[in-house]
Amino acid sequence: MRVCISCRETYDRNYLIKITKDNNQGIMLQKGMGRSAYICKSKKCYSDSKIIKKLQKALKTSLEPEFIDIFEKEITSYNDNHNKGI
Ligand SMILES: [Zn+2]
Repeated sequence: MRVCISCRETYDRNYLIKITKDNNQGIMLQKGMGRSAYICKSKKCYSDSKIIKKLQKALKTSLEPEFIDIFEKEITSYNDNHNKGI
């Protein structure tokens, strides 16, 4: 069980998006080794306007615009899957 950095609820790993500051490869989604933060797949959390700020604080790093793009696409895909009932 992990805590969502936005709502502070605990969830099963499967319900969370993992963002890791990998020691060698920088920020990664759903993989990597290092300091990690979790965001649950509820819309109010991943679409929170402050989520990038919260992430940066949790990971103690600044996020590149390139990563933010990838992150937003990833999150949009979760939303699509949700709409399809997957
Ligand atoms: Zn949450």
